[in-house]
Amino acid sequence: MRRKLAAGNWKMNGTGAALAELESLSALHHAPSVDVLVCPPATLLNRAAQTVHGSGISIGGQDCHSEVSGAHTGDLSAEMLRDAGATYVILGHSERREDHGEQNEDIRAKARTAMNAGLVTIICVGESLEQREAANTLDIIGGQLSGSIPDQSTGENLIVAYEPIWAIGTGKVPTLEEIGDVHDFIRARLERRFGEGVGRSVRLLYGGSVKPGNAAEIFNVSNVDGALVGGASLKAQDFSGIISALEREVS
Ligand code: PEP
Repeated sequence: MRRKLAAGNWKMNGTGAALAELESLSALHHAPSVDVLVCPPATLLNRAAQTVHGSGISIGGQDCHSEVSGAHTGDLSAEMLRDAGATYVILGHSERREDHGEQNEDIRAKARTAMNAGLVTIICVGESLEQREAANTLDIIGGQLSGSIPDQSTGENLIVAYEPIWAIGTGKVPTLEEIGDVHDFIRARLERRFGEGVGRSVRLLYGGSVKPGNAAEIFNVSNVDGALVGGASLKAQDFSGIISALEREVS
């Protein structure tokens, strides 16, 4: 049985004042019946972990280096994220693939290091609009899955987030059928590579313009085990609506 997960990605948003939103979220969802994760900027990790302490909400990083330590100015290691209170990390977000030229093999190396450090690793995959229009979506996703996911992956240390790039922050969302097709494809690929047991235990998140108003129908799609949420995770009230939709799905 896969536990549902609502994951928020704050990206490069939020200073100390934003912790008030986390306080509100902890009050609204104390001991939630689904997993709830917030990934704030690295500067807030430690304070965010203290803010949600005891609420059942988890904290995660948005990236980490592939090396355990060393001369990498400005970078953060997986162990540093752990030390700051993170238990999850997002890797291979399309903004990192685009802004920092991250390739599948870079993401796989980071994922290995993150898993070795005991972090639950959310690996993002997704196609561009051009790739979808050229009917290349499944080829692209297949390549990202085989290239980015390390062999040591299990249902405990890996989560895959399907995030069509054209749906991120745009208000555009694929049809429910399109979401289902990609999630079923990812599930089949994971089962083929890791066997049915592991393949079926990895959680699959949908990400891209999830809002309180469309969350319930998306959560109803087969093989959607939750969401990775950008903009709507910044306000406790909005994220709470998405968490509530997920809680209704399991009740
Ligand atoms: C994201 O960046 O992971 C994301 C899904 O953003 P948004 O929800 O704002 O589309």
